[in-house]
Amino acid sequence: MSSIKVLISDPISKKAIDFLRSKGLQVDEKPDISHEELRQTIEPYHVLIVRSRTKVTKDIIDAGKNLKIIARAGVGLDNIDVEYAKSKGITILNAPEAPTIAVAELTMGLILTIARGICLGNQALKEGKWIKKQLVGFELYGKTLGIVGFGRIGKEVTKRAKAFGMRVLAYSKGDISQEASELGAEVAKDLTDLLRNSDIISLHVPLTPETYHMISEKEFNIMKDGVVIINTARGAVIDGKALLKALNTGKVYAAGLDVYEHEPPQEDWEWELVRHPRVIAVPHIGAQTKEAQEKAGLIIAEKILKTLGIE
Ligand code: NAD
Repeated sequence: MSSIKVLISDPISKKAIDFLRSKGLQVDEKPDISHEELRQTIEPYHVLIVRSRTKVTKDIIDAGKNLKIIARAGVGLDNIDVEYAKSKGITILNAPEAPTIAVAELTMGLILTIARGICLGNQALKEGKWIKKQLVGFELYGKTLGIVGFGRIGKEVTKRAKAFGMRVLAYSKGDISQEASELGAEVAKDLTDLLRNSDIISLHVPLTPETYHMISEKEFNIMKDGVVIINTARGAVIDGKALLKALNTGKVYAAGLDVYEHEPPQEDWEWELVRHPRVIAVPHIGAQTKEAQEKAGLIIAEKILKTLGIE
């Protein structure tokens, strides 16, 4: 039995917990623990595993006198005071690989929903309306999908789009020519080239000062008339007000959104965007699959063991 004590303060997959225990770690599960209770109980623990509920603030880090690792079984680290933890010599781990497939599949789902009017048809039929004649959609086959950000998710979307017979045009930081050619994607000369030539544009870049409002009025003006926009990356990568305007003028035919500048949306214009008849909006469900959650737990368990030097 190892002397390493692990506290899990949010629900994580049982497989991950069993895996850590099988390696001899002492794991305590307190998935509903309050902030105050956590502060009072954290002292003997070496590892704290959280998802998004637990707020790992300075007072928790100060109380965790034996903490070596804070691990987020997921992607975002917004609920952890990362800088403060690092200043105390604590290693921060997360699992950005876990939701890749889930987000790629949601992206395809949003594209298909828009292409075939699936939400509209479903809603109308439930209201007793047979709107078959109004629901003439379009096929993905032969269309150009512009992928902005050719990382883990961008590449998985590419594979799926290629299976639909789409042409994929990719734009990303760095040299992606080799990976793009392996997946049958073409590399756009620059962002303008991608915007000008894509029928559907899907965003897969992180939110950074460089990508904040990367798609704004100027970029919409370059796009084809009737373009479809998909955002499963981060809300603020698109200037939402500019998107609303482009939807209202018809420049953008439709948008599929999983992410928003504020979550949930706050401002009137944000709700106007979400409620727009040609917007398919879902509440940041990109990573919300059983498999992604399970993967997040297992990936984090493996990273913890590796960091601790346990085989
Ligand atoms: P990744 O790091 O593997 O890929 C991001 C790509 O964007 C990289 O290839 C990078 O070079 C490129 N990039 C970065 N800045 C750029 C810029 N200024 N211009 C052009 N390209 C740029 O990340 P990933 O796992 O593919 O995830 C992409 C994003 O998706 C994440 O950063 C996150 O914001 C979002 N995400 C959303 C969900 C969800 O639930 N909807 C889940 C996971 C990730």
